[in-house]
Amino acid sequence: MITGHTKTLAILADPVTHVRTPQALNARFEAEGVDAVLVPLEVPPEALEPMLKGLAGVRNFAGAVITVPHKTAVPALCDALSARAAAAQSVNVIRRETDGSFYGDILDGEGFARGLEQAGVTLFGKRVFLAGAGGAASAIAFALAERGVEALTVANRSVEKAEALIARLAEHFPDVAFAAATDPVGHDIAINGTSLGLKPEDALPFNPDTLDPGTLVAEVIMQPEITPLLHAAEARGLMIHPGHHMLEAQLTEMLRFLTHEEDEQ
Ligand code: NDP
Repeated sequence: MITGHTKTLAILADPVTHVRTPQALNARFEAEGVDAVLVPLEVPPEALEPMLKGLAGVRNFAGAVITVPHKTAVPALCDALSARAAAAQSVNVIRRETDGSFYGDILDGEGFARGLEQAGVTLFGKRVFLAGAGGAASAIAFALAERGVEALTVANRSVEKAEALIARLAEHFPDVAFAAATDPVGHDIAINGTSLGLKPEDALPFNPDTLDPGTLVAEVIMQPEITPLLHAAEARGLMIHPGHHMLEAQLTEMLRFLTHEEDEQ
């Protein structure tokens, strides 16, 4: 039951109707006896900064999950960031500390990599193609590099964002062969890390018809579960990995982070 003692959390998104985090995390709070509630808030970009400034003074506001389109705007509004959030220049969880400051972290990449590992995929030594260089894709790129992939090719509509991401990652991971290129051929795993696939009229993020027969095609999009990209990959007989794995794998991390059970990195 929600009482005056309940920790209040939010998910900040625009639009917010498609998010699944409230039902997923509130079910976990109930199952694990955590006295917290997470509510969906539809926050347009211009309202983000004044809202966070106001929430810094709200004593029972414990933190928030951050999603499209705010993940790359929030780092500048945090007082402190984890190392991976600073490298990805992206935040998907913030915690309000007792002094009213905000600490930001990014759990997307860890969730994505763990989701693949839980499905039996080894990332070490793999050649990976990643479409996207936004918040989720940047975090995924960081987590893949941390796990020792052999090569990581990043393709993004705004090429300069792919190049900037690669430059940041190359500083941390000199052994990974990074490239900014749009051809997915010659990779073991091909990932959609863009928002393409959320709407039925969206173009495919890359063409799965050209992929090598053993390639695994993975998604960040959760709704629909089988995106047009995954349909096309399945039709070619390729292995697929839907986006819901990424969220499920990071729920435990989110719960720990938001309810203050995790030490800052
Ligand atoms: P961002 O806004 O930070 O990045 C969006 C990315 O998509 C950018 O690379 C952008 O390219 C690209 N993009 C958007 N529209 C187009 C287009 N019309 N053509 C080509 N490229 C396009 O969003 P996030 O990274 O935060 O989120 C991306 C997706 O990941 C979302 O759909 C979100 O739902 C999903 N997600 C899923 C999670 C899960 O647990 N399964 C967790 C987090 C996110 P450009 O840089 O050129 O604009």
